[in-house]
Amino acid sequence: MVEKYPVIILGGGPAGLTAAIYTCRSQLKTLLVDHGLVGGQITLADRVENFPGFPQGINGMELGELVHQQASQFGLETLPAEVTEVVASGDVFTVRTSNGDFRCSALIVALGADHQKLGVPGEEELLGRGVSYCANCDGAFFQGKEVAVVGGGNSAVSDALFLTKMAKKVHVVHRRHQLRAEAILQEQAMASPRIEFVWDSVVERVEGDGVVSGLRTRRVDTGETSLLPLSGVFVAVGSVPATRTLKGVVDLTPQGHIVTGHMMETSRPGIFACGEARQHAVRQAIASAGDGCTAAIAAIRYLQEQTP
Ligand code: NAP
Repeated sequence: MVEKYPVIILGGGPAGLTAAIYTCRSQLKTLLVDHGLVGGQITLADRVENFPGFPQGINGMELGELVHQQASQFGLETLPAEVTEVVASGDVFTVRTSNGDFRCSALIVALGADHQKLGVPGEEELLGRGVSYCANCDGAFFQGKEVAVVGGGNSAVSDALFLTKMAKKVHVVHRRHQLRAEAILQEQAMASPRIEFVWDSVVERVEGDGVVSGLRTRRVDTGETSLLPLSGVFVAVGSVPATRTLKGVVDLTPQGHIVTGHMMETSRPGIFACGEARQHAVRQAIASAGDGCTAAIAAIRYLQEQTP
């Protein structure tokens, strides 16, 4: 017998957890499925300084835990599991997971995004042996060593600043000569004596035999290649929406984002999407939380309309 919930939420980042606070407070029995540490990508941030309510900033892990605690105290059930398939059959949705199957009347998709890969030789082979997508998780392994961060956005620059706490030198390899990161982060990075910029350069390959020993870069203007000898490479070149299980269930953009209306409704009635997995998301924790609130209110109204 497959258990049925009024609401199932896929993904436990700021979007999913905020949606859960609202559905649980509306006394709708809610199951949240998340494959990892509940809290989402924000848990990887050393310090979150732009989430309202924390004037001194807050550690990302702590923020994730607090929001989960808040949702749980209103009755949220959390299932640690991988979502393997979503099946829509009329107005009932079946969620297949690595920990069993569940059904629901309203589904809120808040699956966020996965790390974008560089797709260069050595990246996959040396993953966990010097290649990482999470400075906050793996930075401690590089005490006194030389590392590189690839990318020029907020993630790359925040990662570089965090890594200066332990690494001897941090090379920021960026494909243009202008950072995408917000001004306050750029200013801090430019002022850091431990950060060096490798401008107008892309990564050709990650070098190493068993462990990372260097990074081969190529200048985009001259084609000249260089080898940076180092022990760690942190890739921070953006993200891809984690929407594989929604393909064929709801409309996706060519990039894989879920197409949503202004109430977070998808192309299929009863399924709502919020946060980074959806089209036009601004990819900020607070905006994802706002999306989650809207999706939950839309789902609550949808369920009320379904009840005769
Ligand atoms: P992002 O803003 O999309 O930046 C990705 C960076 O990687 C860009 O600089 C891009 O270069 C570069 N890039 C992309 N593909 C590449 C490739 N194949 N090879 C080399 N470089 C490549 O991604 P993000 O930094 O992860 O940020 C994601 C979202 O989270 C953003 O909205 C950001 O504001 C937010 N975020 C906020 C904070 C904060 O507020 N403190 C911290 C982290 C993230 P180009 O610049 O040339 O496109």
